[in-house]
Amino acid sequence: MLVIGGGLAGCATAYFLAKNGIEVVLIERHDLNALASGSNAGSIHAQIPHAEFLELGEEWARGFAPVIPLMLESIRLWGTLESELGADLEFSLKGGLLVARTEAQMRAIERKGAIERAHGLAVEILSRADLRRIAPYLAEDLVGASFCASEGKANPLAVTPAFARAAAARGAAVLRRTALAGIRVEGQGFVAETDAGPIRAHRIINCAGAEAGRIAAMVGLDLPIEGHPIQVNVTEPAAPLVPHLVYFAGGKLTLKQTRRGAFLIGGGWPAIFAPGDARPRVDPRSIEANLRIAVSVVPALADVHLLRTWPAIVNGTADWRPVLGEVPGVPGFYMCCFPWMGFTAGPICGLAVAELILGRKPSVDITQFSALGNAT
Ligand SMILES: Cc1cc2nc3c(=O)[nH]c(=O)nc-3n(C[C@H](O)[C@H](O)[C@H](O)COP(=O)(O)OP(=O)(O)OC[C@H]3O[C@@H](n4cnc5c(N)ncnc54)[C@H](O)[C@@H]3O)c2cc1C
Repeated sequence: MLVIGGGLAGCATAYFLAKNGIEVVLIERHDLNALASGSNAGSIHAQIPHAEFLELGEEWARGFAPVIPLMLESIRLWGTLESELGADLEFSLKGGLLVARTEAQMRAIERKGAIERAHGLAVEILSRADLRRIAPYLAEDLVGASFCASEGKANPLAVTPAFARAAAARGAAVLRRTALAGIRVEGQGFVAETDAGPIRAHRIINCAGAEAGRIAAMVGLDLPIEGHPIQVNVTEPAAPLVPHLVYFAGGKLTLKQTRRGAFLIGGGWPAIFAPGDARPRVDPRSIEANLRIAVSVVPALADVHLLRTWPAIVNGTADWRPVLGEVPGVPGFYMCCFPWMGFTAGPICGLAVAELILGRKPSVDITQFSALGNAT
């Protein structure tokens, strides 16, 4: 069994396979956790992303909503990982607040909440007074919010290495600095050409994140998975103030405070990645716009210094739906790609794909997310 990619999806898949006695080799062209899985904002999301709800509309939201049960199952699984992997992941669920400054924003929150509830997500609408009671740190001009108790945060620097260590302890071979260059179908299996030489495998699991489309093309698939440059800001540590994951209904924002007190401020603001660039660069316009929203929502942030902004590439699909499971027409080739919010969903994606390979019924239904429905 060959797993391509040492991010969260790959390390989780390798772990759940190795735990069940399957011989696994994982190859990673850089180091483990070097890309999106180790550079994200650490939000544990359960709700439909609000900016996309506004931009892409209710029909898009209904098409995306079947992903909610998968996110919820991943969050349940996250709750078991600290003891399963024997690691402190700084995982906590204090709830997500999607806050509004206008009545029109409240109406949009309510419309989205109705779709979310229909797909099993508990979302509570809060009045101005309710909001002030549970989040006195928020700006006084906010008129209300929705509260989603299933949401929270975890440390992106902890979980992927913990999965990798646990996989290796159960016999998985984890090969760093080993890039996949090509795949040949041979007999009942594959030969993967890597810069460490050819690797034969009956099955390949494509966990290559933003590169997953390129890897899929090696077996003749045309999948709409692409990389998008975005950035996250981190402040100096401050006294505990914000227990929740905070979003804003009037602009892109995710805001949380880490255990050490730093505020992580993001929300999918674009970074710069021009043709020919070796790596993405920070866009100062995004910093300014992102921080302006953050301070307007949590005024105390005006007194906290920004320490750093980092850019990274997130794996995206146009409809935000994942691509999971064995590819119809290419037996033995599996996709494990959860776009945009794959920090939240990585654990369940790894488990479900491993269960499929083990011949078990996956813990969540992933049939509707097969590559067939996503081919361009
Ligand atoms: C700035 C930012 C903020 C984000 N914030 C959040 C958040 O708060 N919450 C959330 O849920 N999600 C968030 N995400 C999304 C989340 O981080 C990703 O969806 C998730 O980490 C994807 O995991 P992955 O393992 O599929 O991909 P990756 O972590 O990108 O791992 C893929 C790996 O495959 C390797 N690879 C690629 N090609 C090859 C090859 N040819 N040979 C060998 N190896 C190869 C790569 O080197 C890489 O290490 C964010 C992403 C970014 C960039």
